[in-house]
Amino acid sequence: MELFAPENIRNVALLSHSGAGKTSLSEAILFNSKIINRLGRVDEGTTTSDYDPDEIQRKISINLTVLPYPWQGVKVNLLDTPGYSDFVGEVKSALRVAEGAAILVGATSGIEVGTEQVWQYCEDLGLPRLLFINKMDRENADFFKVAAQAQSKFGNRCVALQIPIGAHTSFSGVIDLLKMKSYSGANAQEGDIPADLKSEADSFRSKLVEAVASADDNLIEKYLSDEPISQSELEKALGTAVSSGKLVPIFTGSALQNIGIFLFMDALNRYLPSPKSRVVEITDLIKQSTQKIEPVPNELLSALVFKTSADPYVGKMTYFRVYTGTLTGNSQIWNSTRNEPERVGQLYTIRGKNQEIAPQVIAGDIGVITKLNVTGTSDTLCTRDKPVKLAPIDFPKPVFSGAVSPKSKADLDKLGSSLTRLAEEDPTIKVQRDQDTGETVLSGLGETQLEVVVGKMQRKFGVGVTLSVPKVPYKETITASAKGEFKHKKQTGGHGQYGHVLLEVEPLPRGSGLEFVDGIVGGTIPRNYLPAVEKGVKEAVHEGVIGGFPVVDVRARVYDGSFHPVDSSEICFKIAGAGALKKAMDSANPVLLEPIVKLKVTVPDNYTGDIMSDLNTKRGRVMGMMPEGGYNTIEAEVPMAEVLRYAIDLKSITQGRGRYTLEFSHYEEVPSFITQKIVAERQKEMAEKAAEKE
Ligand code: GDP
Repeated sequence: MELFAPENIRNVALLSHSGAGKTSLSEAILFNSKIINRLGRVDEGTTTSDYDPDEIQRKISINLTVLPYPWQGVKVNLLDTPGYSDFVGEVKSALRVAEGAAILVGATSGIEVGTEQVWQYCEDLGLPRLLFINKMDRENADFFKVAAQAQSKFGNRCVALQIPIGAHTSFSGVIDLLKMKSYSGANAQEGDIPADLKSEADSFRSKLVEAVASADDNLIEKYLSDEPISQSELEKALGTAVSSGKLVPIFTGSALQNIGIFLFMDALNRYLPSPKSRVVEITDLIKQSTQKIEPVPNELLSALVFKTSADPYVGKMTYFRVYTGTLTGNSQIWNSTRNEPERVGQLYTIRGKNQEIAPQVIAGDIGVITKLNVTGTSDTLCTRDKPVKLAPIDFPKPVFSGAVSPKSKADLDKLGSSLTRLAEEDPTIKVQRDQDTGETVLSGLGETQLEVVVGKMQRKFGVGVTLSVPKVPYKETITASAKGEFKHKKQTGGHGQYGHVLLEVEPLPRGSGLEFVDGIVGGTIPRNYLPAVEKGVKEAVHEGVIGGFPVVDVRARVYDGSFHPVDSSEICFKIAGAGALKKAMDSANPVLLEPIVKLKVTVPDNYTGDIMSDLNTKRGRVMGMMPEGGYNTIEAEVPMAEVLRYAIDLKSITQGRGRYTLEFSHYEEVPSFITQKIVAERQKEMAEKAAEKE
């Protein structure tokens, strides 16, 4: 592809709920721009955008795909995004590097939860957008109903720029309300408006003129005083209103039959802003100041990495968007996020799974570098002499976890490295080893996302794993002071064994851990054996007396004991120390502690009651509520054990309209009726483990 100046580039995020037709629309667009010569179909797994085996198998988009195409002198980087909420990380990446968005809505399904969500993301970023009502060829398609629905949900900013021909019979084309012409069939044959649609077209045209005039201070005066508004004034004002986000025009068509798509491609070029129109906010790392600069190709270099993927053939692929300056192939660059240099080999522009070599990528455009060493998603690339930083991508934090267990010994060996590589690809995934439970815990945004990771481990790295609900890291502590004594004594011929320890335990505040105090006076236990006693105590706290969970927040003070000049040894005092601790713990009213998490749930207002009563059954304590713009954010403290599957519960309570964050808060005592259940389960598990070993 030739080089395009920033004003001739468009970076467009293609958004919708799952199944509205994004992949089909991208396919039609690539076909119309002659990038591909055959229309692939989602249902046959032959599209340019969804090429990943997981996507073909599940028939949903999982990855953000960059699909560049030239159209009338403009290079459009279409960013096809997944509609499924587990993969919102990819949507956030696309939105960060786009100047505008196209939101698809199904003409039969209408505005769905996913539509509301992507709309909100655009609102948050102030992104100009167009709406496209797709699937007009479907039997129950209803353009007018869906357009009215968009207006009632998102306001009168949404205004029809087209109406369909054959809306209720057989869809054959669209009427452009600006030009007042009809465009029929796949090649958009221009003609006059059919007589039977004339009055409908006139009435929608008046609504359009009113909306455009209302968005422009000069035009509204003309409009109100009934002065004529020229076509060019109207077009200009519409362009300004859309690119500033004041108006959101509605288009329509059928991606599958390629009707209305040519006009939509024109609209993307005309109404969505180019990178040129957006100043770039950059932090100069030498001056430590933030400045706004023009996105010109001959300025200093700044590029943001918005995606990283591991390709089995090419290796690591780093997707970047240049904001200012020009990134040239075979050069040395600087990763200012990690403070490391990187060597750039060949540069590429991408199309689905294919790449084309590009000598350089200039301000506003998107490209790929292969085989970078340290660079990850959200990093800024620049030059070493002029280090700058761009704002990173705002990714949601993981909220849903699963324990990963290898299927075989060979799988165990490759588990860590393959998980690390997959976590590198997806910034919404974290892998951690839980010290207390010994499990490898994979966390992300939902169950489907974790299942996809597990699938990829098998396919890309040949590592077989199973996913299960992670164990809760319970702990034990004491609630009273108590004393314990243990004498380790054996006299079986020859050299005997002798160690004798008396100690006292007392509870400490939460978070103190374990404290060992030497309270020996008069050498009842010789100095050189005290480290052994301490070691015994510290080992013994790994397994408490209730369910064998780690013990915390206890002070153990050794205050007495005795020794034998010949039979005593370090090992004997270690055993005695451990034994004395267990005895003391037994009489110190031991209790189980469970982790409590801080949960923040955001739902549309009308779900507040359902969320509260569900939290009640989960032993949650509501700490506060923050209603805002039709939504309510409920903050609560809930035992971790109750919210291990919260992503699934919340989805079913709100039909997918809710979202939440969750972070560890503190440990609290487990109510006694629950303790019994936990202990019984734990004993069963330990017995099974013991049986396995035999
Ligand atoms: P995505 O999840 O938004 O990428 O949607 P897809 O492009 O994968 O489409 C989902 C389903 O809707 C597939 O079965 C498509 O064949 C179908 N589909 C997409 N666009 C149209 C359309 O314009 N008309 C009809 N009838 N079906 C469509």
